[in-house]
Amino acid sequence: MEIPETVIALNKLARNIWWTWNQDARGIFGELSPRTWQNVYHNPVAILREVSNTELRMRLLEPDYAKRVADVLEEFESYMNAKDTWVTREVPELNNRRVTYFSAEFGLHETLPIAAGGLGVLAGDHIKSASDLGLNFCGITLFYREGYFQQAINHDNWQAEYYNQLNPRNLPMDAVIDVDGKPITCSVDIATDTICFRAWRINVGRCPLYLLDTNLPENPAHYRDLTLRVYGGDTTTRIQQEILLGIGGVKLMRALGEKPSVFHMNEGHAAFLALELIREKMATGDSFNEALTATRDQCVFTTHTPVPAGHDRFSPELMNYSLSRFAKQLDLTHKELMAMGRLDAGDETEQFCMTVLALNAARAANGVSELHGAVSREMWQEKFNVPVSDVPIGHITNGIHTLGWMSRSARDFWQPRLGNGPKFYEHINDAKFWEKVEDKDFISDEELWALRYRLRRELIDFTRGRLVDVPPSREGDFISYDHLLDADTLTVGFARRFATYKRAPLIFDHFEKVVKLAKDAERPVQFIFAGKAHPADEDGKRFIQKIVHLAKHSELQGHLVFIENYDIQVGRMLVGGCDVWLNNPRRPLEASGTSGMKTAAHGGLNCSIMDGWWREIYDGDNGYSIGDDSHPNNLEEQDRVDSENLFRVLSEEVIPTFYNRDAAGLPRQWIRKMRHAMATVTPKYNTWRMVQDYSRKYYLED
Ligand SMILES: *Cc1c(COP(=O)(O)O)cnc(C)c1O
Repeated sequence: MEIPETVIALNKLARNIWWTWNQDARGIFGELSPRTWQNVYHNPVAILREVSNTELRMRLLEPDYAKRVADVLEEFESYMNAKDTWVTREVPELNNRRVTYFSAEFGLHETLPIAAGGLGVLAGDHIKSASDLGLNFCGITLFYREGYFQQAINHDNWQAEYYNQLNPRNLPMDAVIDVDGKPITCSVDIATDTICFRAWRINVGRCPLYLLDTNLPENPAHYRDLTLRVYGGDTTTRIQQEILLGIGGVKLMRALGEKPSVFHMNEGHAAFLALELIREKMATGDSFNEALTATRDQCVFTTHTPVPAGHDRFSPELMNYSLSRFAKQLDLTHKELMAMGRLDAGDETEQFCMTVLALNAARAANGVSELHGAVSREMWQEKFNVPVSDVPIGHITNGIHTLGWMSRSARDFWQPRLGNGPKFYEHINDAKFWEKVEDKDFISDEELWALRYRLRRELIDFTRGRLVDVPPSREGDFISYDHLLDADTLTVGFARRFATYKRAPLIFDHFEKVVKLAKDAERPVQFIFAGKAHPADEDGKRFIQKIVHLAKHSELQGHLVFIENYDIQVGRMLVGGCDVWLNNPRRPLEASGTSGMKTAAHGGLNCSIMDGWWREIYDGDNGYSIGDDSHPNNLEEQDRVDSENLFRVLSEEVIPTFYNRDAAGLPRQWIRKMRHAMATVTPKYNTWRMVQDYSRKYYLED
């Protein structure tokens, strides 16, 4: 390729976030200007705004750089044009079944902060994998121009929220335009208003993701801000955002000339899409019942949480008001419409539940782990009025997009071992490959332990850097960052949303004993925490306050760090660098959990309550369990028993094994567990397996 063509190709590459799961692609952008790369938070589009085309052309005169660029571009081309994909090989019927996946959040990369937590990260990993597997697939979400909040910890160790404006021009997103190059606009009816919206497209490998945006001059001011923030505002904003997502999403599909065969509702937030599908059919003469039956054939639904507050409920008044104009087109009375979201259609005081709507409108529904499937069947039995075991809710356990979560060092470690061809990534989730990792002739203990040291050091460097960026807020908080954390020390990590059921500070219930453990001269432990509480969650913020206070002012200073502003980048560093990943939710409220899956390919071990995904794979040798596969019914009792078990497993099992070294200084038994965790977790808990399960079970015709 000539240099001018290469420049064009690089600009095209920057606008396809395939680079989020290709470390070499990220590398060729990053090295153009390492300082800018840090400042723009790893964003190739912004890098190419800084580096002029002239500079780029001159840099391409460097043979080594040009060669690496050519290799990446070739890999990208071959990825985009692949004819031989999992779908064409295994389920060619899916080639002409378009799947549209609706989700209120998508976690794709740190420069696109439009996710609040695990639900969004899962959606991001789902679409990346759909692309890898060759599915005929697109995603729908909203363009939140202020995204989810950025977190700062103030003088009282209290979480403060601030917002940055996202500028589409500096992001890998394009306006969705018509044949004349004009932005496509559509509209939805909200209350008595007609609200216009436009859409942006993010290219996720081979799959488009569409983001709806009401920030248009023709809208009244308060509707321009409807898509301002992820889960921003009150229930009125919430229902309006969900009307836009569900109803607006279907309308955009039609404006694009799309006729999806499958509408996948990721959580109840998207369930209004079913009302629009029903409306469309009624407009062509179907009765309501005919339209509902046909709509059910098109829809599948994934429920994500047993926490009651995680299921949206709207009052009859709010429903009546928000859907007043839309409902007329459905030719339903208010009572009939409300019945779609009620367990007891006759109870006029019952709120409208989006999960009930989704269950009514989908031909298939699932929870996100085996236990969560069972809990969901119990939870929604009342709706189906059949024995619990017959409730039609199945399960598909969540996963992660393995390559997207691998740190550069881990990828460099695995790539040559997987076979250094350009298509090595096709085998990244192969059980056969990961089985070999249990064999010392394939990889030695020394190599694996060196990898752990490298990743732990990278995390410590990263953490110190982050703390320097965010200086201590008060005199007296002074900590010499260069002495904070230690690269020989057992490093325990905890990072996720600070929802209270996840019980972030549980380990500190035994504070004095934990201090003793942490400061043991021979066998010390250090803890790194990160996470955001929802802006309205005071209890979650108190958990943060407690941990930040302990980090700054207790005897744990230096052994406990809280990294501010948790996001995908902080998450990636933590799951790579920690030796132990702590997960201590109140069973059975962690429907699946995914962060622990991200540690395995880096040699981290899970130490977890037997909830969600972990209870499916824990076998006694691939990590640690806190308690057993049951829980007391009394919450106080549960917290007490779990914190005791957690302390016991940490002090009696984790620490002794980690520090049990041979003459060469290696913890042989620990490394055996690392191998076994890699072999068991990685091939199963990835989103290729997950999307394959969805494809075979739910995306094919019934
Ligand atoms: C993986 C991930 C999560 C999910 O963590 P859980 O332990 O499943 O709650 C949340 N946020 C980010 C940024 C993640 O990367």
